[in-house]
Amino acid sequence: MLANYHTHSAFCDGEMMPEDYVLAAVRKGFSAIGFTSHAPVPFCTDWTMKPENLDKYIENINDLKKKYKNQIQIYTGLETDFYPGSADFRNHPGVDFTIGSVHFIHDQKNGRYLSVDGPVDEYRELISNVFDGNVEAFVETYYNLVGEMIKKQPPDIVGHLDLIKKNNVDNLFSESDKWYRDKVEEVLTVIREHNVIVEINTGGISRGYIKDLYPSEWILKLIREMDIPVILSSDAHRPDLVDAYYAEAVKILKSIGFTHQRVLLDSRWQNVLL
Ligand SMILES: [Zn+2]
Ligand SMILES: [Zn+2]
Repeated sequence: MLANYHTHSAFCDGEMMPEDYVLAAVRKGFSAIGFTSHAPVPFCTDWTMKPENLDKYIENINDLKKKYKNQIQIYTGLETDFYPGSADFRNHPGVDFTIGSVHFIHDQKNGRYLSVDGPVDEYRELISNVFDGNVEAFVETYYNLVGEMIKKQPPDIVGHLDLIKKNNVDNLFSESDKWYRDKVEEVLTVIREHNVIVEINTGGISRGYIKDLYPSEWILKLIREMDIPVILSSDAHRPDLVDAYYAEAVKILKSIGFTHQRVLLDSRWQNVLL
């Protein structure tokens, strides 16, 4: 079954309107598509949805649901951010599901929110200024935020679990470090306890940032062993990329032993064959 539940349109930092993605998905034989604009945040960014556009976004997708009801299932989601004091959009009227992601770390000294997946210089600044160069403390803070989100505001799906690796171009940490593996395992235990779906995100590859999936294959093996549900997503910012690297990802997932993914179909979460 072909589907994508992680889609960014012109309502946030994606290109083109939601309808352009619906048409691309129908052309590619998708059964469903879910939209997940970056939910509004109360500080300035150039990639989250403006608060005044949230209603328009929901209305736009509601219109598409009616217009294409005989061709494809359409769902309204949000990719929500978690940071201390972040808003909870899970029960916002008209929102069918949420992907919970951690993109920001709060710089308390300067009252700013710096992103872990922004420009590399911002990442370096975060580590040197906010964590006094302590990479381990930085990485642990990121995973602690993911764990706290799962405990306090469990989303349907946890987004790009190991996003922290995207900007690790200076090899500040290694994924084979024991402390890193232990931290990831700790978060996976929390994810399993709260029955949250982990997304297999091909967006880092299709946008040319990294060469492997979020999460890395060794994490995928743990996820399989722990029997945590997964969902394949492209994190598309352009209509032609709604299924980018899907064939490669499915091959990897099958080689690890995954047979199913959990998707939103007929308005309920269910397991379907990969
Ligand atoms: Zn994201
Ligand atoms: Zn995204």
